Amino acid sequence: MSTKRHGKIWIEGMDTPLLNKTLSGRNSGDEPGDRSSVSILPDVWIIKIGGQSIMDRGKSAVLPILEDLVAAHQRGVRFILCTGGGTRARHVYSLGLDLNLPTGMLARLGSTVPVQNARMLQMLLAKDGGIVIYADDFDKLPFFLNSGCIPITSGMPPNEFWEKSAAVGLIPSNRTDAGVYLLGEFLGAKGVLYIKDEDGLYTDDPKKDPQAKLIPEISARELLDSDQDDLIIERVVLEYMVRAEKVRKIQIVNGLKPGEVNAAIDGEPVGTIIRAE
Ligand code: ADP
Ligand code: MG
Repeated sequence: MSTKRHGKIWIEGMDTPLLNKTLSGRNSGDEPGDRSSVSILPDVWIIKIGGQSIMDRGKSAVLPILEDLVAAHQRGVRFILCTGGGTRARHVYSLGLDLNLPTGMLARLGSTVPVQNARMLQMLLAKDGGIVIYADDFDKLPFFLNSGCIPITSGMPPNEFWEKSAAVGLIPSNRTDAGVYLLGEFLGAKGVLYIKDEDGLYTDDPKKDPQAKLIPEISARELLDSDQDDLIIERVVLEYMVRAEKVRKIQIVNGLKPGEVNAAIDGEPVGTIIRAE
């Protein structure tokens, strides 16, 4: 039976600390304190295969990485493989920009390309257990993983029309690096690993500046404060890292170098490690 309390609907038995809070006040009733959330899949890696950096290079880049990943899978490493968009996504973003389409539409368009990449990887990995999954299937991940499958999914977050305005310009700032990171954070994953085509993060894009120096380890805060011109990872990932609860470290490795992926999985400090603090 509902009555009124403090002028608001009050239902017997639903007297919670959040009652009568807007949830928008500074004091929301859910102060951090010692609170922590459960880790849903703490022994599962989230691994992204770069779109432009890897997929678009075709079989010479992709097949050796898949071989390394299958070897990892066969020795019991559990992971979810995520895909980026790459050159085809950049094409559709340029067309969308030329046609003055809003960010939400660009995000929707950009979400289709990583699905193409996921589908291609799934076929290549079918004999080793590759299956495509979508966000609606995440509750079945334990079943897929326990059956020996390699779940493959688009790295793009499902914001689509609801994508937030970017700090600058119209291109969605939450693309596949961000989606992959947030998936790892949500699942409380063992680690988030980015497979790209450079040895890691440099002081500048090494393809444009041959003097750029490799940064083996840095904090997200330091990197944000340094305001580097260009990054190997979407800038928003750094913003998410500094307030993350679970994934306090990411690693970026060069997939064009054999063995790097497995070295990272084995905990070796290959490539670049970015820590939250
Ligand atoms: P992905 O396809 O995995 O999303 P991107 O092509 O978007 O990868 O980003 C990787 C590229 O970022 C590298 O190939 C490199 O040329 C470029 N890049 C820009 N700035 C940096 C930097 N500071 N350090 C390393 N690489 C950088
Ligand atoms: Mg990218």
